[in-house]
Amino acid sequence: MNVVDEIFDLFARRGEEAYFGEPVSQLEHALQTAFQAEQANAPDSLIAAALLHDIGHLLHKLPEDIADQGIDAKHERIGGGWLAKYFPPAVADPVKLHVAAKRYLCATDKAYLACLSSASVQSLALQGGPMDEEEIRRFEALPFSREGVQLRRWDDMAKLIGWQTPRLTQYQTLLEKLAQAKEKD
Ligand code: FE
Repeated sequence: MNVVDEIFDLFARRGEEAYFGEPVSQLEHALQTAFQAEQANAPDSLIAAALLHDIGHLLHKLPEDIADQGIDAKHERIGGGWLAKYFPPAVADPVKLHVAAKRYLCATDKAYLACLSSASVQSLALQGGPMDEEEIRRFEALPFSREGVQLRRWDDMAKLIGWQTPRLTQYQTLLEKLAQAKEKD
């Protein structure tokens, strides 16, 4: 199975699962995040990253209320590491950084912290809380940290009931092109 078929298969099998403590499914959350990237005229690589940023949740088998049990699933590492095998760093790296980006924004943007949902505040503690000065400097020096921050802001807004978005199949060509770009290098 090629990687795009595999992604579609994962969403078909697990996309209806709830998005941790929020009123949308995993698939709705992914589509809403990608749609915002599109509307912001993001490059294809960042649209793909937005669509696939929580793929780590679909790849592992922990129950959906893990944050309640005090477990941090490290889905950004699982997902980012998996994506890095099939897609360029411009796709995989923002995914790897989207949880760190939350800790970054909590430290650098007061309005951001105030707007987090209660599920997101709960997981923040497990993720290490807001970054300190040294962590902020190191984060800003990483490739694709800006993209990780952009992705994070779309991620946080992608929790709305009944939002009309494109369907998953509309991203097929975009994903195939990016996977081919990885094969060529
Ligand atoms: Fe998310």
